[in-house]
Amino acid sequence: MTTWETRKRRKADLSRRIAEGREDAGYCRIVGCTQRTPAARGTGLSRRACRAHEDHYGRHGSYAHGSFPSKVLAPHRQAAEAWLAAHQADPSVVRGVLGVQSQYAAAGQHLPATRLAGLPPSERCRAAWARLRDAKVPPVDVLAAWLAVAATIASDPGADRHSEFQQVQAAKLLHRMASGTHRRWERSGPGGSLEATELHKYPASRGRVLRHLGEQLERVAELVAAPFLEARKYTST
Ligand SMILES: [Zn+2]
Repeated sequence: MTTWETRKRRKADLSRRIAEGREDAGYCRIVGCTQRTPAARGTGLSRRACRAHEDHYGRHGSYAHGSFPSKVLAPHRQAAEAWLAAHQADPSVVRGVLGVQSQYAAAGQHLPATRLAGLPPSERCRAAWARLRDAKVPPVDVLAAWLAVAATIASDPGADRHSEFQQVQAAKLLHRMASGTHRRWERSGPGGSLEATELHKYPASRGRVLRHLGEQLERVAELVAAPFLEARKYTST
């Protein structure tokens, strides 16, 4: 987004808030929402939005826009994978792959999802990189996730244009690519039959860990996104 557009949007936001006289009145700032903020209710700290909208923001990285379903991302992801395969020798792609590899190398030991509760977001973020590495997700597929989300947003006129939305959406996609900890064990049941017990634990896909992961992904992938989006302009329908 250009500085001019940002300024225009901020100005519009500000005039709307002034016109509504709401900022200090303790109401949720999201257009059309009549709920009071947790701060005004005395149930929390947020002065920006009501609990439902804060919760939405935590999960999706946007107050108003929901997460993209897999089927919406899929065609952009395929295009990104094809483009990356055709441009694997480009310096920006080579650098992006190296960037993902260094995240993998720095991620340390794999922590099972069952042990993540209570760890700070930075640790959970490292664990997410370790999970991708140990699931043998090729670095180029990690780059493709960033490009897919960038292209999906670019082709959606109603999408949230804040960088945080893109970061969170891409991080959610990474979470899905390296799923949680799965254990399966068998024991003897009645009559000597074998009974299988399975445990599936997925790390929660919300909150600050998604911002951390998305920011780190952006740092390694943003240079790859520009030429891809430029090429996409002429090929997408
Ligand atoms: Zn609200």
